[in-house]
Amino acid sequence: MDNNDNIEYYNDIYSYVDYLYKLNVNEKNLCTKNIDMLLNSTGHISKVTNIATGVGYCIYKAKLQEFIGVRDFIVSNTPGKGTDIHKLLGLVSIEIFNRSKPTLNGTLISTIYDENIDLFVDRDDKDENIELAYEMLSSLQNVLVNRIYNILGTSYDKLFPVVEQQFHDYEYHILGVPDLILEDKENKRAIVVEWKTYDEQVYDTEKAQVVAYSLLEAKRLGYSDRDAVNAITGVWDDNQKTIKDVKVLPLIIRPGIGKGRKLTLQPHPILFSNTKEKFIEFRKLIGKVIVVAGYLTLQLVNPKVFGIDEKEVKDYCKLKIRDKEYSALRLIPLGLRKGNPSRRDKFPCKSGNSPICSLFDACGFYLGQYKKTPFDIVMWALRYYTIGSKESTSTIFKVIYELFRTHRREDVISNLKNGNGYEWMFAANSPVKLQSKKRQRIIIYKYNRIFQQIRLDIIDGIYDSNNFVIYRKIRDYEKNDGKLRVIREGKPIMLFLNDGSRIPLLSLNLTARIDNVEVDNNLVKYYINIPSSVFRFSLTLIKKYIEKYPELVRDSLLVETGVNLTSRELMTIDAIQRILRDNSQEVLEKIRENIDRKEGTQKILERIVKDLERESDNGWDLYQTIDDALPKLISKLNKPSD
Ligand code: SF4
Repeated sequence: MDNNDNIEYYNDIYSYVDYLYKLNVNEKNLCTKNIDMLLNSTGHISKVTNIATGVGYCIYKAKLQEFIGVRDFIVSNTPGKGTDIHKLLGLVSIEIFNRSKPTLNGTLISTIYDENIDLFVDRDDKDENIELAYEMLSSLQNVLVNRIYNILGTSYDKLFPVVEQQFHDYEYHILGVPDLILEDKENKRAIVVEWKTYDEQVYDTEKAQVVAYSLLEAKRLGYSDRDAVNAITGVWDDNQKTIKDVKVLPLIIRPGIGKGRKLTLQPHPILFSNTKEKFIEFRKLIGKVIVVAGYLTLQLVNPKVFGIDEKEVKDYCKLKIRDKEYSALRLIPLGLRKGNPSRRDKFPCKSGNSPICSLFDACGFYLGQYKKTPFDIVMWALRYYTIGSKESTSTIFKVIYELFRTHRREDVISNLKNGNGYEWMFAANSPVKLQSKKRQRIIIYKYNRIFQQIRLDIIDGIYDSNNFVIYRKIRDYEKNDGKLRVIREGKPIMLFLNDGSRIPLLSLNLTARIDNVEVDNNLVKYYINIPSSVFRFSLTLIKKYIEKYPELVRDSLLVETGVNLTSRELMTIDAIQRILRDNSQEVLEKIRENIDRKEGTQKILERIVKDLERESDNGWDLYQTIDDALPKLISKLNKPSD
């Protein structure tokens, strides 16, 4: 059938599969069942910034960023751009929204700035940043008092500030760091704030971004599926012609007030245009966010990992659009704004004669042409290998998520304190089960062999807040068998505080490293440090939380994690592929040149593969086949006819 053109794709979307149901694919049930299984099994997850690009700018650009490793260098390589003011806004928010009446003034902001001076990069901009922070926080306070408390049925004394925390969610497949959430946990209400520090119009990508963060917050408050979407949009009351029952409100705050302008409060229609038309448009925006998150995640999954035949799924998911056949497994979501990679001749690629898309050249290179040299085949193989190796580090997060989704938090904590562990079989839809061996770990099995072990610990409290030393008592079972189950020194970890969220991956957290483990009388002490200065702001935030709310440390969860270097590796592969292949030459000449460069290329490839293997304790056996394939693929460079 060929009637996909007339379908409204983004109405009533609560999951990626809801979107698939709207497409006229070959075998609807088998297609949706298999894709649902893949999405529910993978450890992969998409970044909010890429999702927002896919919804609001161009889905091809999102794909280049998420999957191919191309980076928007203008944005991501400008150190400190926007970050000093973001840090200041975060630090002041923790101080003023602490369940007492907020008192905001320039002196308070200036004092906070001076107390945290080491965190700021552009100190010459101090006065400007203090003024900007004052303006933006005042705007927020005004809209809270005049509009939002009333809409949500909450008040300042109930709000808890959540500042720049990294949240993972595996229902919507979203990973993101919201700027600020003001949360009324008791009544399950929240305001999700995104600071935009430039006085410009609000872009569609920014609206999509704050909506994606709101989905994470809805999950954190315990809403899911239809309830999570409804919590954000509210419901339309046709009798009273108004939106009702909004529980999680996304809000973009930007400057402008100082210049005497009235701020438009985006993106929720209840704040700027309470009409049915805008309400429906807003629901579609959430639908697009959910679909793009699912789509980008799906592009990272190798079905073979879960014993699913990709060719078969492609067949089930076949569909026709204007007489051409595609498979919904890889086809970009329909009906979204996008450019044309082979032409790249108008918006959003170009304006007049100038490219405006920051990935204009990379897009032409990867998506605008279809010829692939053997050299490209090798690079693509390596890219799949890299993404495959990420599955092993992300699996840790997925399993922790499943553990707490399917078991009560109190039970998991008490079991771990008794030394029990859990186990998970690496397979589609596999449950996380209690394991009675006193190992205090999660063991991941693959083909009935131990594939990976996740060491965990439960913390009793903070021992020394200045040096960040946390502790727990030595447990009876450890005394009995004379063996301590601790996380090893030098290992990367995540510390998830006990802030009342059921799922640790949606709790206040810190990415860190164990510098030292000390056994002192009856205590195990962990000396926590950060692996690089990039995490200094996160460390400051967590220390502030612990200082203000020491109870958050009791029963917090410490998890040994792997280092995930995927983004860096994908960027390296992109650089090698684009530098070594010169598009201006004829194909044969190019291949000949690649043969000359074969040795150098092979060395680079081998080094990356070795690095990847070193990062993963147990390797990634499915993708080891690439190890065999790699020399064969590279040998193709000797045979231009291939
Ligand atoms: S060049 Fe155009 S089609 Fe390519 S990623 Fe950019 S906006 Fe999208």
